[in-house]
Amino acid sequence: MTVLVFGHSGQVATELRRQAGARDSASGPVSTLARNRVRTLRRDHADLSDPAACAAAIHAHAPRAVINAAAYTAVDAAEGEEARATVINAHAPAAMARACAALDIPFVHISTDYVFDGTGTEARTPADRPAPQNAYGRSKLAGEEAVRQAMAGRGARYAILRTSWVFSAHGANFVKTMLRLSDCRDRLSVVGDQIGGPTSARAIAAACLEIAEQLMDAPGKSGLYHFSGAPDVSWHGFAAAIYAAAGRQVRVDAIPTAEYPTPAARPLNSRLDCSLSTQVFGLTRPDWRRELTHILPSLLPPILTELESPA
Ligand code: NDP
Repeated sequence: MTVLVFGHSGQVATELRRQAGARDSASGPVSTLARNRVRTLRRDHADLSDPAACAAAIHAHAPRAVINAAAYTAVDAAEGEEARATVINAHAPAAMARACAALDIPFVHISTDYVFDGTGTEARTPADRPAPQNAYGRSKLAGEEAVRQAMAGRGARYAILRTSWVFSAHGANFVKTMLRLSDCRDRLSVVGDQIGGPTSARAIAAACLEIAEQLMDAPGKSGLYHFSGAPDVSWHGFAAAIYAAAGRQVRVDAIPTAEYPTPAARPLNSRLDCSLSTQVFGLTRPDWRRELTHILPSLLPPILTELESPA
């Protein structure tokens, strides 16, 4: 039986593909679902701009579970094309949810810390009121509401998993940007007043598979959950940790968000309270420092050994 994944080349989708085989011992227990065939859908197989095509893909594959790892993720560009972002991030997931409910299979949908307004300093729980500050956040919140509505009253199996600050060895992310900048800069200014939990795509993929598996036997676990890396840190602190772990000599100065204007406003407080996902699914917050050391070797140029070095 197949686990159908929307997305193929994205950070989380790539990790879901990798975890379809055996996982290394450092990555935690291998879920039963991970040992099933994971079928990822490229954009030309199922374009999320066409919600009906997404539902049709689910019916055609008749999978055991569905994970939506595809999304319109260009946060700044979304300011100029919110309608398109809303189709991809809300209408398509709603169609997926309806198809999953009809087939009575689990649906796991990934959402974001950007549904919150970023005020305060407390970690936000799934029960806290969302108030997105940008078009991307609004489209993702619309997706959450549409999925919940599609599942309502059907006894369906679903989970909406909010995560934050995703990084991995592939795709576009902060870790890769920092490493690239250090090739040509020895001093950088990085925002120091946005705080959140960097989360590895590997850990998100593993969490999605675990959740889908548990939903098969326990539909009552359906609902909204948070899952982010620990400990919480600022972008500045994350950048400094990346350079320390990579052995790069770069001076990183902390600046306030006000000194780094972007088209889309970012929440200052992105802390997510993940205790509900721990309580219900047994998930623990992955330590991003450990996850970082796992991916860095594949991102750094190989160190020449004595044998390989020119004489
Ligand atoms: P990526 O940006 O790495 O990948 C997005 C994926 O979505 C790509 O595979 C892309 O396909 C696919 N996609 C985009 N538009 C369409 C479309 N119209 N039809 C089909 N596929 C499409 O995303 P991540 O892996 O980083 O994010 C996974 C999830 O996590 C998303 O739901 C995102 O909102 C959420 N999230 C991400 C955060 C982050 O920091 N990145 C933070 C918090 C939440 P293609 O390769 O063809 O472009």
